[in-house]
Amino acid sequence: MRRFRFPDPDFQDRFSAFVDERRGMPADVEAVVREVVDSVRTEGLEGLLRFARKFDDPALTEATLRVSAEEIAEGAARCPAEVREAIEFAARRIRAYHERQRPQDMRFTDEAGVELGWRWTALEAVGIYVPGGRAAYPSTVLMNAVPAAAAGVERIAMVTPPGGLKPAVLAAAKAAGVTEIWRIGGAQAVAALAYGAGPIQPVDKIVGPGNAYVTAAKRQVYGVVGIDAMAGPSEIVVVADGANDPAWIAADLLSQAEHDPDAQSILITDDEAFAGKVEAALAEQLGALSTGEDAAASWRDHGAVIIAPLDEAPPLVDRIAPEHVEFAVEAPERLADRVRHAGAIFLGRHAPEAVGDYVAGSNHVLPTSRAARFSSGLSLFDFIKRTSIIKCDAAAFEHLGPPTVALAEAEGLPAHARSAAIRLGRG
Ligand code: NAD
Repeated sequence: MRRFRFPDPDFQDRFSAFVDERRGMPADVEAVVREVVDSVRTEGLEGLLRFARKFDDPALTEATLRVSAEEIAEGAARCPAEVREAIEFAARRIRAYHERQRPQDMRFTDEAGVELGWRWTALEAVGIYVPGGRAAYPSTVLMNAVPAAAAGVERIAMVTPPGGLKPAVLAAAKAAGVTEIWRIGGAQAVAALAYGAGPIQPVDKIVGPGNAYVTAAKRQVYGVVGIDAMAGPSEIVVVADGANDPAWIAADLLSQAEHDPDAQSILITDDEAFAGKVEAALAEQLGALSTGEDAAASWRDHGAVIIAPLDEAPPLVDRIAPEHVEFAVEAPERLADRVRHAGAIFLGRHAPEAVGDYVAGSNHVLPTSRAARFSSGLSLFDFIKRTSIIKCDAAAFEHLGPPTVALAEAEGLPAHARSAAIRLGRG
């Protein structure tokens, strides 16, 4: 854990070096993934089954590739009722939030009499990657599939390696509106979604987190299909004054640290004595966490405490551009409104980041590794696209034709010029 004091003379240099540190660089798996992706692309089902058997399930066949409706129903029924109800509660809230993101179509006539506009339509088919190696999270299913369903995507194909087929994951798939589930993971699953393989029809976009093999495969199939952003290790900045309960703030910092040894948790506070209490509470809570080993490594290697006047917090947050930032202060908007770069902002002492992970309704797939400077979290917009509309009658074309001819000729494209000129009676 690093400690920074805002007025120290070397603060800016040390803080800049800290912000620029790279965490969790993915292993170089490009060559392995290239072979897998090429094999599935050229051999289809045969290539898919070969790698799925090698890496995940030696007994997999074409017949067992798809998780049947009965298996989904039986698996989901084994999910404890309390968890199933929480999943359904979360799905309803995520759906309601994302439905409000739906933009309006537009149609207008400009001063030249040209009718212009755009309209939004949903993607037809989307693939959702749900990791199944180390852990299987129902919230991953909800956060990726519910916005797709809310957008009106007709086909939502989920892939997960056999380890991912847990009752809660199946219950989440049901609640989210997933339309098919395939028992495959890794680069071969991504390639099968992109190119199709046997009974698996290709999709138009692939979203969802995964390990280095999955991420590399998504990068390699980009262009054939759309993909979501590249997820890096999780991050949180907590801006807190001394009026907080230190145990609450320690718990929030650990809620990110426990994800991964490369996760990052940063406390910004104006109260040095309070910071000491948070550190003590954090050390105490670490001992009781089943995820304590990862959380301790994250806090030790990437954690930070910044002592600074709270008014200085917004520019510091902007430099970090974190995935999540909490403002546990009085009148949080006063500071938060000055933040430009953050994936999600949590306001007030009773808005821990964990509610955003599960049930607030907003999406928990957010930009990491400072990508909040130029991108946003997953949303309905990831599952819709915009088509431009242009309508001209003869009178409107009188305005557009001559400059079209001029530009086409200037660009040396005579057929373009003719296509306009012919309508002006000059062809
Ligand atoms: P995974 O499903 O991403 O990867 C497992 C697959 O990797 C296997 O199916 C296998 O096919 C492939 N694989 C494993 N070893 C291989 C090898 N040597 N060569 C080729 N392929 C190989 O599951 P995971 O490994 O548990 O990783 C999950 C990742 O997703 C973690 O990095 C985790 O942090 C991340 N995650 C992120 C979120 C989020 O919301 N951001 C949620 C859940 C998980």
